[in-house]
Amino acid sequence: RARNTHEPEFLQAVQEVAETVIPFIASQEIYNGKNILLRMVEPERAITFRVPWVDDRGEIQVNRGYRIQMNSAIGPYKGGLRFHPTVNMSILKFLAFEQVFKNSLTTLPMGGGKGGSDFDPKGKSDNEIMRFCHSFMSELYRHIGPNTDVPAGDIGVGSREIGYLFGMYRKVKNEFTGVLTGKGLSWGGSLIRPEATGYGTVYFAQSMLATKKETVKGKTVAISGSGNVAQYAAEKVIQLGGKVITLSDSSGYIYDKDGIDQEKLKYVMHLKNVVRGRIKEYEKKYPSAKFYEGKTPWKAPCDIALPCATQNELNGEDAKVLIKNGCICVSEGANMPSTPEAIAEFHKAQILFAPGKASNAGGVATSGLEMTQNSLRYNWTRDEVDQKLQQIMSNIHKSCLEYGTEDNGYVDYVKGANIAGFVKVADAMLAQGVV
Ligand code: NDP
Repeated sequence: RARNTHEPEFLQAVQEVAETVIPFIASQEIYNGKNILLRMVEPERAITFRVPWVDDRGEIQVNRGYRIQMNSAIGPYKGGLRFHPTVNMSILKFLAFEQVFKNSLTTLPMGGGKGGSDFDPKGKSDNEIMRFCHSFMSELYRHIGPNTDVPAGDIGVGSREIGYLFGMYRKVKNEFTGVLTGKGLSWGGSLIRPEATGYGTVYFAQSMLATKKETVKGKTVAISGSGNVAQYAAEKVIQLGGKVITLSDSSGYIYDKDGIDQEKLKYVMHLKNVVRGRIKEYEKKYPSAKFYEGKTPWKAPCDIALPCATQNELNGEDAKVLIKNGCICVSEGANMPSTPEAIAEFHKAQILFAPGKASNAGGVATSGLEMTQNSLRYNWTRDEVDQKLQQIMSNIHKSCLEYGTEDNGYVDYVKGANIAGFVKVADAMLAQGVV
């Protein structure tokens, strides 16, 4: 802790894991006295680098680039790149740490990493984005590779950015390998990868609801965010017969009492992915909806909440309101969107609550399937990938039940996910010795 006092998000993520894993370690003789957790919280490598680029006015700008290579005991480092002005060492270390457990849970051979830059893509032209991505990769390429470290997208890094990053990697390395995931279909991408995180979050909610003999059909669902994860979470909820009533971005949220159907969602996808506009514009297009400036959507009464925007976007007070309004299930699409106070409220009320490292693991799992397809130089069909994704989400749910079921039958999915993720990595580290 003393070494990382200036890294609050990282400490928050470590504390959440430590609270559940330390008692487990104490109960298992093989892990005693090995300082496993102490080794896990220190990144194997943390790289920072200068990213100079020229804006459209001809001025030179400089951003900071990062790659945190957290743990490679069970496979190459794997985790997204985030381009957002809030990016710093603390945020990336928290994300990389979470990624280690999440990747382990998928049962695929992937270590954990994360990276990105404090670059703000908002308001930048396509050419500026391209120049920035090229500059970023002109350094990052030294540290990654298909058997070393395989980055993917995250906030601010979608298919456009992955394209520019891949282009520069291919040029400087003079080779075509599966070094990034989230690629376009014609150049090594996997079907279902864009949908995977959002779909997976809803598949996980389905598994949780099934333990209570409930389904998504007919349920009212509040979703935050309107990016990649939120869009496909909404799509899957609609397909399963649920009613999506909110979406948001960093300027506020829209509430549509009639529900966001497939056609309205198509509008949001165009607005966000093509026009790159703000969610507020939904209100103009659909006057039955209302925009709440600067607010998060948790006051909207719902049965299911899917936080799919960013870390710490749902606090203790929000959790109390959700519970009071009858919410029975929270499945995190984003990474660490619920604060520790919010999680405590969910546990106190004994409602279904899934932490992102379990419920949003569908994205990285499908990235793992993209890596497999790249290595095989073969593409699976949409159905094949979707089936595998559903199987993986169901297996993660089973692992959570195995380690998280309490004496009274309540499932603590935080504990279940942390311990199940820990065991595989810890066993590999023990087997490989102190390295
Ligand atoms: P996108 O960039 O596509 O969308 C992010 C969304 O969250 C946007 O609506 C954005 O609004 C909003 N947002 C971002 N920062 C903030 C903030 N500080 N306050 C309020 N809203 C904010 O990213 P993704 O959908 O890919 O990622 C969303 C979350 O899911 C992140 O936590 C990410 O780490 C996690 N995740 C993503 C995976 C993936 O496969 N994409 C995999 C696993 C986890 P605005 O446009 O205004 O910034």
